[in-house]
Amino acid sequence: MEAFDIVIIGAGPAGLGFARQMSGAGLRIALVEQLEENILAEPPEDGRDIALTHTSEQIMEDLGMWQHIPEEAMGVIREAKVVNGRSDYALHFDSIQSEKPYLGRIVPNHLIRKAAYLQVKDLADITLITGALVVEATTGRVVLEDGRELGASLVVAADSRFSGIRRKMGISAEMLDFGRVVIVCEMSHVLPHNDVATECFHYDQTLAILPMHGEVSSVVVTLSSEKADAAMAMPAQAFAADIQERFGGKLGKMELITDRVAYPLVGVFARQFVAPRFALVGDAAVGMHPVTAHGYNLGLSGAALLSEALRAALAEGQGIGDIAVLRRYERAHRKVARPLYLGTNALVKLYTDTRLPAKILRGVALRLGNALPPIKQRIVQQLTQISARG
Ligand SMILES: Cc1cc2nc3c(=O)[nH]c(=O)nc-3n(C[C@H](O)[C@H](O)[C@H](O)COP(=O)(O)OP(=O)(O)OC[C@H]3O[C@@H](n4cnc5c(N)ncnc54)[C@H](O)[C@@H]3O)c2cc1C
Repeated sequence: MEAFDIVIIGAGPAGLGFARQMSGAGLRIALVEQLEENILAEPPEDGRDIALTHTSEQIMEDLGMWQHIPEEAMGVIREAKVVNGRSDYALHFDSIQSEKPYLGRIVPNHLIRKAAYLQVKDLADITLITGALVVEATTGRVVLEDGRELGASLVVAADSRFSGIRRKMGISAEMLDFGRVVIVCEMSHVLPHNDVATECFHYDQTLAILPMHGEVSSVVVTLSSEKADAAMAMPAQAFAADIQERFGGKLGKMELITDRVAYPLVGVFARQFVAPRFALVGDAAVGMHPVTAHGYNLGLSGAALLSEALRAALAEGQGIGDIAVLRRYERAHRKVARPLYLGTNALVKLYTDTRLPAKILRGVALRLGNALPPIKQRIVQQLTQISARG
């Protein structure tokens, strides 16, 4: 059995980010990923454009990830609007309420994954084991499909919201199947977006239009499963015309410039984030509905919290697999993630409910949000910052 201090399962953005955060702590770290290394180096486009909080931007800068993302591939969100149904009335946020001259940046997920890979690939204390599926995990030990065994003081699972390792470790998770599908793509348009992000809660679907670089927007449509099948099967021109019409022609003529990718919407919250010598990070701990754009942001801040707890333990001479140490991370991450998870699910419920009281309540909520600056300030804080300190 090959021995490490930490074995991380999954080199998605959360696993790679956590590995980078633990580098330099004097530990031997293995990062095991089922995909081949050439895919980590050049991840394929997956349709997701990730809205990043100021906190995430700072963490990515500190980790040396930010400089691997070309400026011209990023969008800037300076204003955000939330619209109820076909009404012209919008709950409006701008950067006056935020600490930076913008609410957030938006970056294609494949570029985040590539940047996350580039910042760990040459680190001497991280051994990347790629093309290797983890098939077994028990306390302090994992087994790969080819029979190799790895031992560690701490095993960290970052193997997605449908984490097989979480299940193998006997940790259950709350799962909420929204019974809906999100379709994502990028579209070009004739009129400028002026760096405004718009979330339109129509009654049978939600539509988010997020500003990318130039006259391009990221389009996120949430639909029931049958409608999503039909939307995926539509010819590109008809799909573009439908989005253009649903957005009231505000961006002029729109054209599809990438493939459409569909994701079923399931929210996941693990009942525990830790066990002796074991921790969950990223979507394996908390898998969010994308409407509030918090999944990756939470993954990064959660990894920072775990890294802070482990580094403090090392400084105090405690074991990194010690359950008391891991519980510090669990408490701090849960405190941040639980309200965001529940709040997001409640928002989705309110804005997809087609009954009259919900429609009225939505309208009232938008007007109240505009009328009460402290509420607005609080929402902007949630959009731009996630605590990454315990
Ligand atoms: C449509 C959409 C839009 C989104 N928009 C936003 C947004 O605007 N802002 C935001 O913050 N977040 C957003 N998110 C969420 C964000 O994409 C996720 O939170 C993030 O990608 C999760 O990263 P992860 O590393 O935890 O998991 P994943 O990216 O799922 O990576 C898991 C990795 O583990 C590997 N793996 C799995 N099992 C094994 C095994 N047994 N052995 C070895 N390797 C294994 C997989 O191959 C994979 O590489 C969005 C998500 C979706 C679907």
